[in-house]
Amino acid sequence: LTKPENLSTREIQDLDSAHFLHPFTDYKDLATRGARVITKADGIYVWDSEGSKMLDAMSGLWCVNVGYGRKELADAAYQQMMTLPFYNSFFQTTNVPAVKLAARLSALAPKVGDRSFDHVFYSSSGSESNDSNVRMVRRYWDLLGQPQRKVIISRQNAYHGSTMAGASLGGMSGMHAQGDLPIPNITHIEQPYFFENGLPGETSDEFGIRAARWLEEKILAVGPDKVAAFIAEPIQGAGGVIIPPATYWPEIQRIVDKYGILLISDEVICAFGRLGHWFAYEKFGYKPDLVTFAKAVTSGYIPLGGVMVGNRVAQVLIDKGGEFNHGYTYSGHPVACAVALANIDIMEQELLLDKVRGEVGAYFAKRYAELNEHPLVGLAETSGLVAGMVLVKNKATKERFSSEDAVGMLCRAHCFNNGLIMRAVGDRMIIAPPLTMTLSDIDELMRLIRQALDFTL
Ligand code: PLP
Repeated sequence: LTKPENLSTREIQDLDSAHFLHPFTDYKDLATRGARVITKADGIYVWDSEGSKMLDAMSGLWCVNVGYGRKELADAAYQQMMTLPFYNSFFQTTNVPAVKLAARLSALAPKVGDRSFDHVFYSSSGSESNDSNVRMVRRYWDLLGQPQRKVIISRQNAYHGSTMAGASLGGMSGMHAQGDLPIPNITHIEQPYFFENGLPGETSDEFGIRAARWLEEKILAVGPDKVAAFIAEPIQGAGGVIIPPATYWPEIQRIVDKYGILLISDEVICAFGRLGHWFAYEKFGYKPDLVTFAKAVTSGYIPLGGVMVGNRVAQVLIDKGGEFNHGYTYSGHPVACAVALANIDIMEQELLLDKVRGEVGAYFAKRYAELNEHPLVGLAETSGLVAGMVLVKNKATKERFSSEDAVGMLCRAHCFNNGLIMRAVGDRMIIAPPLTMTLSDIDELMRLIRQALDFTL
């Protein structure tokens, strides 16, 4: 049933390495081992071409928040394709799903203080959305007569995408090394990783304040009148699920307010229920000016991304007039927007956000916290339905494994061969399962994780 018609797994793998250059892949290595061919999915499970079933605790790639096999989303795409599969929104035209979705997202974005989001700018991915952020931030300060405000501050180990601007905003050293990046006027501060950077005797709250103040130091070093914006993920996802201390975001807010710089919240992973809210800044109580989204806006069924543009920025773009020379063929794609609307319907009807904030999230947190007893686990933490743990050589001294130990890859490989998709980022193991997980699904997930940890030990 799961085998693609007429082709053996080996034949697909050979065609794959002959023709398909995958993202973030060592091609020589993949050609020797052959890619796992994923052929179908349902609920929280995916199957490969040999019929192996795996619990997908990464929701594809932080995308499939409503789970696989949703007929409602396929129907929405089909209906929209038959009505209007595509039309651009460049030259004084628009389309109904894009308008409805923009209005719906504006209504869902919580007002924090005086900041509300009445406008959306569309793209097809998180990377493009962050490119749009760079363009929009520069345009904003130009229109306000402060063109010297060009510098955007980001963080080490952040992930903001793979385009030239996205990878520059990101703080992944491997990506910078290969692309002669960052592009000019982008600079980074250290990430708020308490387990790694907390000082002896320092509490996590004290560390949170100290880490946030690295932003102020950087603003002063660059020159406050040259800084345009600060960009950050509410929780660093691809960097290994680094959950900041509770004091971090309020202190960041104080600093960006003090210097009047724009705050960009990159919620490509954290929005659409992952942390139990439509947008994650609500959970942490800060007030961004721009919010990047993608992935779970359609639960990954079709590409869509964008930027929630706060009124502080949108009003300047609108009131000052003049063309914004930026956009994409697929900005406001009608089929993608129709799928997003159906996806939001599902989340509302099935009360998925309430579940993450309530019983399901609480049970997930409790069961995951039990992994802290395991001898290999330095610290296991959750927020909503995202979780990360650091694997350590010595629990008492917090001694870390070296990169040659490849402990994460060992654990990940065991999971992959034993029915679980859990991702490794260096010595950190991370998950972000579908929001449709039941309590017994969580039990099964924890059983598989424990089995992998026991094997890796
Ligand atoms: N921003 C964040 C926080 C992400 O996690 C990602 C992807 O994982 C991106 C941006 C890039 O999104 P995309 O891969 O859709 O371009």
